[in-house]
Amino acid sequence: MAQRSILIVGGGTAGWLTAAYLAKYLAVAEPGDIAITLLELPEIGIIGVGEGAFPTIRTTLAFLGIDESRFIREAGATFKQGIRFVDWAETPVDGRHSHFFHPFEPPFQAESGSLVPYWLLQDEATRPPFAEAVTIQNRVAEAQRAPKRSHEADFGGPLNYAYHFDARMLADVLAERARELGVRHLSDRLESVEIGTDGAIAAVRTEAQGSLSADLYIDCSGFRAELIGRALGSPFKSVRNTLFTNRALACKLPYERPDAPLESYTIATAHEAGWIWDIGLAGARGIGCVYSSDHIDDARAEAILRDYVGPRIDTVSVRTLPFEPGYRERQWVGNCVAVGLAAGFVEPLESTGVVLIEAAAAMIAELFPHNGPLDAPAKRFNTLMTARFEGIVGFLKLHYCLSRRSEPFWRANADPATIPDRLRDLLDQWRYRPPSRFDFTIDTESFAFFNYQYILYGMGFRTAPGDFPAAGEADRIFARIRSFGERAAHDLPAHRTLIEQINVGARLLAG
Ligand code: FAD
Repeated sequence: MAQRSILIVGGGTAGWLTAAYLAKYLAVAEPGDIAITLLELPEIGIIGVGEGAFPTIRTTLAFLGIDESRFIREAGATFKQGIRFVDWAETPVDGRHSHFFHPFEPPFQAESGSLVPYWLLQDEATRPPFAEAVTIQNRVAEAQRAPKRSHEADFGGPLNYAYHFDARMLADVLAERARELGVRHLSDRLESVEIGTDGAIAAVRTEAQGSLSADLYIDCSGFRAELIGRALGSPFKSVRNTLFTNRALACKLPYERPDAPLESYTIATAHEAGWIWDIGLAGARGIGCVYSSDHIDDARAEAILRDYVGPRIDTVSVRTLPFEPGYRERQWVGNCVAVGLAAGFVEPLESTGVVLIEAAAAMIAELFPHNGPLDAPAKRFNTLMTARFEGIVGFLKLHYCLSRRSEPFWRANADPATIPDRLRDLLDQWRYRPPSRFDFTIDTESFAFFNYQYILYGMGFRTAPGDFPAAGEADRIFARIRSFGERAAHDLPAHRTLIEQINVGARLLAG
């Protein structure tokens, strides 16, 4: 068999996660036919934001052979059970705020099927919020409890969960594992790219090591998109006409007290022209203000962030992060494939950056051409990644277009002309029935029908209830969910306690 080499450019989350995943999947550490090199220039640095993940990260870490407690300690991680959305549905009036929860747990099912129609049949004025009615996770998270106990197996527990983490520390954990799995690491600057007569990449020129060549080049160079963008010119498709935010201000705020409560959900608070993320990491809160520069200027965004954080904002540094929401429809071109920010990024809502990296890495691993032309998987890869990006664009738009907020940013978001056709069509259908698993092809989606249910009904969307026969059974299940939830909120450990136990365990081992 011919020997094949892979050169990854970039050492952020995308580069190291892809490197580790491919090294493991293709058994690079064993004597064999595939070699992986990762080239990065530490002085350029990584973007260093992206603190929320998706439950798929557990499967990825387990596949890479990273132990859960070690990951939590070394990435400054905490548990994430979902997102609490504040003030998305209505502009707050006289200090009155609205909120809803998007948990990772899917809704409980009755034997006769979905509980959703029965929740819709209940009196709107007195029924519990949707997430509280159909899962126990809402109660557990609101009680600041962890999704698992300390004796439970790595990556498992009674409730579905992901993590919050420090993005820089995550890249370091992944880098160490990738090296253990046989990835060769070069610190050097990529200066230029040589394109062959066939239009494919022939080699890359670096500052110190000269020319480097490989069979497959993976562009993980972040927004610089050195290979897929600058060298190959694969067009970038902006989605700014649908998703309007294009800037973020980000900071880290240390806790005032070491025993300050630790939320196990991201708090996403809407403001006049975007939203604020608030993420409880082990040592600090990661906070960021996301906004549209067409609707407010930087000074107004700073004032909104200051209002949220309070005077302590003056004690921390605030970074400005501009981005253009969008992606490349051709992410695999010839012998080059892009992963991470080089491939695209829409905005931080619902934390889809790392999940897209995981999807791309798994696809490259499985479709990797061990022999024959290197662009063989390109068409399929591009179709699947385009579908994934489009699915995410539609799901994120759902959060904005259902809002009844009054400010110009929100009114523009509700304009049907800015809503993708597919989402408009589904919204028309969902007026008469809830989202169903048949609405989505799960292999190309990051979000399932029940994620749509949580957002729709959290935002106060109305589906006309039908006539359903098993109301008695449904009422019994709703009551059981309520009492299980109360018990779990009592029995599960406090989130901060579990995180501290894991970290203290590390200190004892180190001592
Ligand atoms: P980077 O981290 O920018 O890494 C690029 C690498 O390329 C670096 O190592 C750099 O040194 C190297 N490089 C570039 N040019 C050269 C060169 N010429 N020579 C050598 N090396 C080079 N994702 C989530 O999953 N959840 C979130 O909550 C989330 N929030 C976000 C918030 C904001 C405001 C932004 C902008 C993004 C967010 N993301 C989030 C996305 C997430 O940050 C990225 O998907 C993730 O960090 C991967 O980045 P990357 O590795 O593609 O790029």
